[in-house]
Amino acid sequence: MADITAPAYRVIPLIPALKPGAMEGKGPFVAGEKLNEALGFPGQLVEDWHDRAIGKMGDLLSRYRSLKVFMDACVHCGACSDKCHYFIGTQDPKNMPVARQDLLRSVYRRYFTLPGKLFPKLVGARDLTREVLDEWYNYFNQCSECRRCSVFCPYGIDTAEITMAAREILDTVGYGQKYSNEIIGKVHKIGNNLGLPGPALRDTLEGLEEDVKDATGFDVRFPMDVKGAEVLLITPSADFFAEPHIDSLIGYAKVFHATGTSWTLSSMSSEAGNFGMFIGNYDQLRTIALRIRQAALELGVKRIVVGECGHAWRVAYSFWNTLTGVGEGADANDHFAQMLQKQLDHRYKQPAHICEFTWDMIQDNRLTFDKSANDKHIITFHDSCNVARGSRMGDLPGGQFEIPRNIIRAVANNFVEMAPSTTREQTFCCGGGGGLLTDDLLELRVKGALPRMEVLQQAVDEHGVNFMATICAICKAQFTKIMPIYGFDRKMVGGVHQLVSNAIQLGPK
Ligand code: SF4
Ligand code: SF4
Repeated sequence: MADITAPAYRVIPLIPALKPGAMEGKGPFVAGEKLNEALGFPGQLVEDWHDRAIGKMGDLLSRYRSLKVFMDACVHCGACSDKCHYFIGTQDPKNMPVARQDLLRSVYRRYFTLPGKLFPKLVGARDLTREVLDEWYNYFNQCSECRRCSVFCPYGIDTAEITMAAREILDTVGYGQKYSNEIIGKVHKIGNNLGLPGPALRDTLEGLEEDVKDATGFDVRFPMDVKGAEVLLITPSADFFAEPHIDSLIGYAKVFHATGTSWTLSSMSSEAGNFGMFIGNYDQLRTIALRIRQAALELGVKRIVVGECGHAWRVAYSFWNTLTGVGEGADANDHFAQMLQKQLDHRYKQPAHICEFTWDMIQDNRLTFDKSANDKHIITFHDSCNVARGSRMGDLPGGQFEIPRNIIRAVANNFVEMAPSTTREQTFCCGGGGGLLTDDLLELRVKGALPRMEVLQQAVDEHGVNFMATICAICKAQFTKIMPIYGFDRKMVGGVHQLVSNAIQLGPK
């Protein structure tokens, strides 16, 4: 008896109490006429929205077998229901992944299944009414398409894909979301999400060269539109001026400088982000991606490297091969794709993430670091959803988790993990992804950040963590905005290449 000890208490999972209707009517601003029309969507809700919406749903069901399977396969086991950060934070039952899916599924059943046509009430089928359409708008714009719920679904049902389909239907009937459509319009018109024109960008880069020279004594370049450079860096436009993003841009430039790699940015294609994915629209997704191919061809580069942006890396890693003809398994079946395939240097991975580039250089002993430069930080790492659950890095499974952590360990002495149930493939969304990083959704963003903030607080209490690194521009923007609301210093968040920048040795002056 004396040898028997009680097992340690388990952490009791907290399932939030329900608050029905808590987030009703709290969706984002609706896009106006000009924004919609600029993307080729109807300017406002069309008169025959009902028939067009059902027609579009049928079109998507016939094109995407996965969507049809997701509509049919759910057994309502509930395994996903408490896995969404927006449900945890808002307690609105319609933010449970299964309930969110059912908003679309109930209409699918009514119009596309025999039992739904014959006995709608018995099978939970609903007519598509204006009320239902408004519900779609509201709750499908409260999903960051983070795919955490799908990790826990025994059938692998991907709510993000259902959200994308719903947003695609909404845009088709002229009921688009202001923030995402405005951003896509800026990319088409100016070349980046922030609407920064080429000359302003050039000025910013020149200013950065001066700042880095003052700080380090080295002539680190931030080149733009350099024909014949080896690397084209495609990075989120937030890297050009937002804090802390810009510190990572400085880190990339220092890595290129220290390794003697010639590189360039493109004024025509100065954006890695691709909000076409967030609104689920293939044409937008492809058009935005093709700007990058055009820039690569015009500049004659040998390699394409993508900066710290979560969803951009998912698009590059998972979709560029079919969208642009670049990437693993690319089917270079059009003239420009074939030209680019010929032009790129296939000794290297195409495209590569900046973390893969830096990690390769570290492994080749081409970079040296003074790790003590990061000693003021006790660092943890926030895995970003689209990198964690929608991409890979390196040659081994899980490379997208290990490579950023390996870099942090190579440049800093103090690294600790947050709770394992909230990292790697189980990571929580920052609360601002998927086209929701807009101030008209601030309440949702603050509440959706709750699970990550709880676990960060735990890491602060247990290990004294004072820096959370991440490799996503949206995570950085979201955290700097909402962390002060949770009592954290906004400077606690930053990029992996910000840490690289602190510690890198640029060589003899
Ligand atoms: S936000 Fe993420 S967890 Fe929540 S429903 Fe959407 S994909 Fe699932
Ligand atoms: S875990 Fe999958 S099957 Fe179960 S309720 Fe959620 S979506 Fe449906």
